[in-house]
Amino acid sequence: MKLEGRLARLCGYGMTAAADAHLFQPTCEDDFRALLRLARLTSRKVLLRGAGRSYGDAAILPEAIAVGLERLNRVLSWDPTTGLLVAEAGVTIGDLWRYTLQDGWWPPVVSGTMFPTLGGAIAMNIHGKNAFRAGTIGEHLEWLDVMDSSGAVHRLTPDSAAFRAVVGGAGLTGIIVRAALRMKRVPSGDLRVYAQAVDSWDQQFEVFERFAGDADYLVSWVDCFARGKSAGRGLIHAAWYAEGSPATLRAEHQDLPDTILGLVPKSVVWRVLKLLNRRAAMRLLNATKYRLGTVIGNGKTEHQSLVAFSFLLDYVPNWRWAYLPGGFIQYQSFVPKETARWVFENQIALQQERRLESFLGVLKRHRPDPFLISHGVDGFSLALDFKVTPSNRERLWELAHEMNELVLEAGGRFYLAKDSTLRPEDLRRWLGPNLEEWRGWRRRFDPDGLLVSSLGLRTGLIEP
Ligand SMILES: Cc1cc2nc3c(=O)[nH]c(=O)nc-3n(C[C@H](O)[C@H](O)[C@H](O)COP(=O)(O)OP(=O)(O)OC[C@H]3O[C@@H](n4cnc5c(N)ncnc54)[C@H](O)[C@@H]3O)c2cc1C
Repeated sequence: MKLEGRLARLCGYGMTAAADAHLFQPTCEDDFRALLRLARLTSRKVLLRGAGRSYGDAAILPEAIAVGLERLNRVLSWDPTTGLLVAEAGVTIGDLWRYTLQDGWWPPVVSGTMFPTLGGAIAMNIHGKNAFRAGTIGEHLEWLDVMDSSGAVHRLTPDSAAFRAVVGGAGLTGIIVRAALRMKRVPSGDLRVYAQAVDSWDQQFEVFERFAGDADYLVSWVDCFARGKSAGRGLIHAAWYAEGSPATLRAEHQDLPDTILGLVPKSVVWRVLKLLNRRAAMRLLNATKYRLGTVIGNGKTEHQSLVAFSFLLDYVPNWRWAYLPGGFIQYQSFVPKETARWVFENQIALQQERRLESFLGVLKRHRPDPFLISHGVDGFSLALDFKVTPSNRERLWELAHEMNELVLEAGGRFYLAKDSTLRPEDLRRWLGPNLEEWRGWRRRFDPDGLLVSSLGLRTGLIEP
């Protein structure tokens, strides 16, 4: 294997971080070993990359040998009686549901987009809109195979301490090559989705807690421009698996349409969004969305396909281009239920004070998990999308650091898949003693520190 002709520009999903690296897309374990050797021979670091759906700098590193996992993408075995699926790390969440839904099974945890790979999902330990009920993806693995930097493969099971380090290990504790995932049995391909507009933070939390008792999925949109008594207003969607005909399990029932209302090709929608993607228009759009939500569908239940509900963001192809040229960052913090309201209220007040409001706010409910690098809390997360421009970049990072302080004071956590702004001091306070324990495992799997990412360096996850 040679470096020549491999240079490629890799960027985070938010398009605010990019780096040139030598990209290889191996298809078997021996290729990985050859790349590890090549890295040693050429004195380079190795960056692991799935589908590049992390928002920040988790899957980039300048000058690295970038190992793209997307072509290691076979389903190795599937048992529709038990729901156990064994797949290589490069299969995507989309591949998973397409493979199993016709047999009545759905991935136990999915992100808001179906493009992430299984390896990337495990390396970040993703959560879904059912996080309060199902936890993170790592909790649904029977085992995983990880290759250490010497090329040896280890099978890890949930009872081992190493498993708790590799799940969520951000690609710095070995190459996840395959895993066995327990899928979730579903009665049909549809959900019953109930919508409710809420007029304040009080109502947000009250209604959330009411539904958390029995809903299968729960998510809320928050208008980050609303202030005063309206602060925290938004639209909650609670969903339950629905009974339905076997036809709903077919891919044709699930596939997202190419047009909106049968007329507008979705491929052009990002251009319209780009025109609107400024503060004044977004304030209006958020207010309009809320007002419409109070009249259309409020208090009503409708059937939606699993794909339409789960992967809302995939509806608009390339929506992120609406944030060009500067890109955007997502800031998601996870706060215990006792202090969540205080933190989120103050985060939004700070944004408004700085005139740096998030254009999109999403609230979810979570539960703790046993992993060393964990964003799981018995509480809530608020995900915020901020447009980045040359003139606001510095102020935005300052704002993020102030918001971090609120989160840390309240015993909260962060999520590396979404992160662009965390500093080593924040990371240390978040992870506490888990950081040293995790580093110990990193040394075991990668003694000479071959696996590196820009995120690992920036946050101090990797020892300086
Ligand atoms: C629109 C959108 C919506 C999203 N919604 C959610 C959500 O609801 N919940 C949620 O939890 N996340 C969400 N995410 C984040 C996304 O699920 C994670 O960033 C996920 O890790 C992306 O997977 P990937 O395959 O693209 O990995 P990449 O982004 O390419 O890599 C992620 C990390 O995994 C490491 N890695 C990749 N493959 C391997 C491997 N085989 N072995 C070891 N390490 C590896 C990389 O080094 C990197 O550190 C969303 C992202 C987008 C763009």
